[in-house]
Amino acid sequence: MDKSKRLFLQGAGAILAGISLYQTRLATAREPQASKVKYALLHDETLCIGCDACTLACREANQVPADVTRLTMVRSGPFGEYPNRRYHFSRQSCQQCENAPCVTVCPTGAAYIDAQTGIVKVDDWKCVGCQYCIAACPYKVRFIHPVTRAADKCDFCADSRLQHGQQPACVSACPTKALIFGDISNQLAPITRLIKHNAVDRDKVSLGTRPKLFKIRAPSGEVIL
Ligand code: SF4
Ligand code: SF4
Ligand code: SF4
Repeated sequence: MDKSKRLFLQGAGAILAGISLYQTRLATAREPQASKVKYALLHDETLCIGCDACTLACREANQVPADVTRLTMVRSGPFGEYPNRRYHFSRQSCQQCENAPCVTVCPTGAAYIDAQTGIVKVDDWKCVGCQYCIAACPYKVRFIHPVTRAADKCDFCADSRLQHGQQPACVSACPTKALIFGDISNQLAPITRLIKHNAVDRDKVSLGTRPKLFKIRAPSGEVIL
């Protein structure tokens, strides 16, 4: 083998070793850690009027293009007869799982749980668009962002609002205060008290995902997910 070829192969080997080391470090860095803060969201379906102000606010705050969404309000009904006919509305968005399948399957560490907040996030630049996370999410709330080409979903507005000391956009926009956001590791937080003193529900808990989207169900009728 001539010298230039040998040097090339040595260089390529060093690059591969570097990538491998980087991936090992990344994997180590992404080992799930229990965060002290546990941000969660409560949707009080008994207060929800299905106005979609939350969905629109989310789109605007997080520059979510028209053909995808981080949040869907699912309507079920009607229940009862006129003039007592009613509808129910249920929120479909990332459940901020503590045991998140999307994180477990991600081969690059792009999907991860933030150690400071417990929020499940996506590092756009690490995402290779393989869609493993989309297939693994039992709640079907992840999508490929048409502009960034990375996986995307609700992140509790971590970058767009929380870091500026603001509540998530959907929470601020709700005219009936049907959405309550906060740290459930804080026993005195309003969300913690509401969860303690109401019959709350979470979707698909039997899967062991430990979701942090809580719901106070409407008193009658079923909610379609
Ligand atoms: S803004 Fe509030 S009331 Fe309106 S759909 Fe969303 S959660 Fe329901
Ligand atoms: S709901 Fe889906 S996207 Fe959200 S943390 Fe759970 S598995 Fe991941
Ligand atoms: S918390 Fe933020 S990202 Fe999540 S649905 Fe509400 S507005 Fe959208």
